[in-house]
Amino acid sequence: MTTTKVQAYAAQSATSALAPLGITRREPGSLDVQIEILFCGICHSDVHQVRNEWSSVMPTVYPIVPGHEIVGRVTQVGAAVTKYKPGDLAAVGCLVDSDHTCPHCQAGLEQFCPNMTLTFNSPDQHLGGVTYGGYSDRIVVDERFVLRVPANLSLAGAAPLLCAGITTYSPLRRWGVTKGKKVGVVGLGGLGHMAVKFAHALGARVVVFTTSPNKKEDALRLGADKVVVSRDVNEMQKHTGSFDFILDAVSAHHDINAYINLLRPDGTITIVGAPEKPLAVSAFSLLMGRRNLSGSLIGGIAETQEMLDFSGAHNITADVEVIPIQKVNEAYERLLKSDVKFRFSIDMASLKS
Ligand code: NAP
Ligand code: ZN
Repeated sequence: MTTTKVQAYAAQSATSALAPLGITRREPGSLDVQIEILFCGICHSDVHQVRNEWSSVMPTVYPIVPGHEIVGRVTQVGAAVTKYKPGDLAAVGCLVDSDHTCPHCQAGLEQFCPNMTLTFNSPDQHLGGVTYGGYSDRIVVDERFVLRVPANLSLAGAAPLLCAGITTYSPLRRWGVTKGKKVGVVGLGGLGHMAVKFAHALGARVVVFTTSPNKKEDALRLGADKVVVSRDVNEMQKHTGSFDFILDAVSAHHDINAYINLLRPDGTITIVGAPEKPLAVSAFSLLMGRRNLSGSLIGGIAETQEMLDFSGAHNITADVEVIPIQKVNEAYERLLKSDVKFRFSIDMASLKS
């Protein structure tokens, strides 16, 4: 197979900083789209995996090139590609391949395919080794995993839709969030702030739970009807038994029972945050009120396109701080301190400088 060298940023171990590295990409095959990457969002999952915090579930193979919130421009397409041509805007999220035949793929849930390939740190079916993500100047992806970006959206702000967007949109839709529902969002980070925008656009009454009092004004601007600083026990108790749905998007260890208790009978809390260590769940929090505890993983390709189209129609993008790739290590440290409003988006042109 013919390959080319491209520039990337990679970590060599769980404790080393990200630094420049030349990597190999395949030349586009007949079904492939080659994309020049313009922006790539920084997801907290990048940090978890660079630091091998998910070692029990998906151990990190080094070097790792993270990044699964990718937007760019098509530079070349294979002979059998029908949906894209050079010059088109295109996007890639967390998935780059699946077997297309299993019941999950047939149902449009490629994220549950036993043979799916993640955008980074997943066995590479073409070149061997592992896949390399979006902190690089170019990527080659099967056209069935390439998404279309609505023309009205800013590219830097659209990039985070490819993970933070779909990961929050999917459970909101699945659990029937609409006008008249009371919805809680726990953790106003990259995912959380997208959840607020989508839940508001779907017509719900949105309450944000945050540990950061300095995010209060922003939460209201993003579409929240109310903000609760979660350390305020009195304020928390006022909401006991009142929520139809709560989305938990917290990246670190926390007491989830405090939120389960806020659900009404038959209400649902969905975990999308993926902290390193298990969360303790009180049986009583669930028994009382027959409440549901569930999880959600990104979303399938068709639903990701639906989310992008919804975002285009409602003019929804992430609130981003654009950084050059040279600032990526600093950005990781700031992300760990919840010091970003609300997503870092890397301007990939900086990789050439
Ligand atoms: P993020 O931007 O860092 O946001 C996480 C938020 O959690 C922070 O902004 C903070 O919000 C809150 N938080 C952080 N530490 C906390 C603590 N010790 N106690 C309570 N709250 C705390 O991260 P993200 O990119 O949105 O990702 C969130 C999580 O979702 C990560 O674990 C990530 O790996 C996971 N994820 C899952 C999926 C999926 O498919 N399920 C997809 C993408 C990401 P406040 O300042 O408002 O308190
Ligand atoms: Zn992500």
